[in-house]
Amino acid sequence: MRVLVTGGAGFIGSHLCERLLNDGHDVLCLDNFFTGSKNNILPLMDNHRFELIRHDITEPILLEVDRIYHLACPASPVHYQYNPVKTIKTSVMGTINMLGLAKRVRARILLSSTSEVYGDPTVHPQPETYWGNVNPIGIRSCYDEGKRVAETLMMDYHRQNGVDIRIARIFNTFGPRMAENDGRVVSNFIVQALKGEDITVYGDGSQTRSFCYVSDLIEGLVRFMSIDDFIGPVNIGNPVETTILEFARRIVELTGSRSKIVFKPLPSDDPKQRQPDIALARMKLGWEPVIPLETGLSKTVDYFSGHCAASGS
Ligand code: NAD
Ligand code: UDP
Repeated sequence: MRVLVTGGAGFIGSHLCERLLNDGHDVLCLDNFFTGSKNNILPLMDNHRFELIRHDITEPILLEVDRIYHLACPASPVHYQYNPVKTIKTSVMGTINMLGLAKRVRARILLSSTSEVYGDPTVHPQPETYWGNVNPIGIRSCYDEGKRVAETLMMDYHRQNGVDIRIARIFNTFGPRMAENDGRVVSNFIVQALKGEDITVYGDGSQTRSFCYVSDLIEGLVRFMSIDDFIGPVNIGNPVETTILEFARRIVELTGSRSKIVFKPLPSDDPKQRQPDIALARMKLGWEPVIPLETGLSKTVDYFSGHCAASGS
């Protein structure tokens, strides 16, 4: 099949492009390189079934494809808050453009939505039936509300125009190819530990997250796209929950670093807890994560060790 991956040069997108090529598909990788990097897709460039398109999805595009994985959107709070108006345009106008394309060529389209649609959740763990607790006017709203509108658009194009949709709600994912300056907790802590710098825990570190290794996530997305009779939304994440302080200690231990843990102000609207209920993914996709946190972290530490050494930082 001809498969379009928007945001294909990003962290998750580049792993997905690689997997789809290995599965025998023709892959069109579309990206504007806001947070993505050519380095992420460099090993794929020699493959004759791989094509790179530099394009911004807030502008329409005409392509002939069978499947669309729609991932384009900055995902780290640091990056999505850099230009919040652009972030919401990417989610809203970008998703309209991709849905228009899907409608015209009758392609199946999967949206990479997020656990952020649950906001600062009052239900724990979060099942797909929970409608969320999102601040519509805060500094995270451009991302959270953008994704919520993107989900609404997906459902309306489905009901109104019969577009074949899939909505995946992705929880915190980590692994090689996260950018060193990404600003998310996994890359920050590992890079800080490797450089012997202070590990910056925001708030008192009692807030929780549940981290999924990238290969598990990719398997979940690919299975979801291949199933005919289920459109979601479905949570894809690892239910093993940890506090951020516990996580910082783990990274120090794993890297054998002499870094100190320091406490910095908690950004506003930072969710206090987050853990996916994955009963639906287990039932509908026959999927659950298989990579233990420790194994995934070791692979990620190895990646950043090589990367920090190569960049001389
Ligand atoms: P990322 O920032 O590494 O990748 C996003 C990619 O989209 C980048 O390559 C970027 O250049 C591209 N992009 C951004 N705006 C664009 C635009 N207007 N036009 C074209 N390309 C554009 O982030 P990621 O972690 O790989 O996330 C990928 C997707 O998964 C995002 O939609 C994100 O919301 C979703 N997601 C990720 C996580 C996670 O933990 N990584 C969790 C929930 C949801
Ligand atoms: N965080 C932290 N130190 C950092 C970066 C993040 O303590 O250097 C915290 C952040 O406040 C949040 C959690 O780690 O509570 C996860 O943050 P991230 O930006 O990775 O993702 P998100 O908040 O979107 O889940």
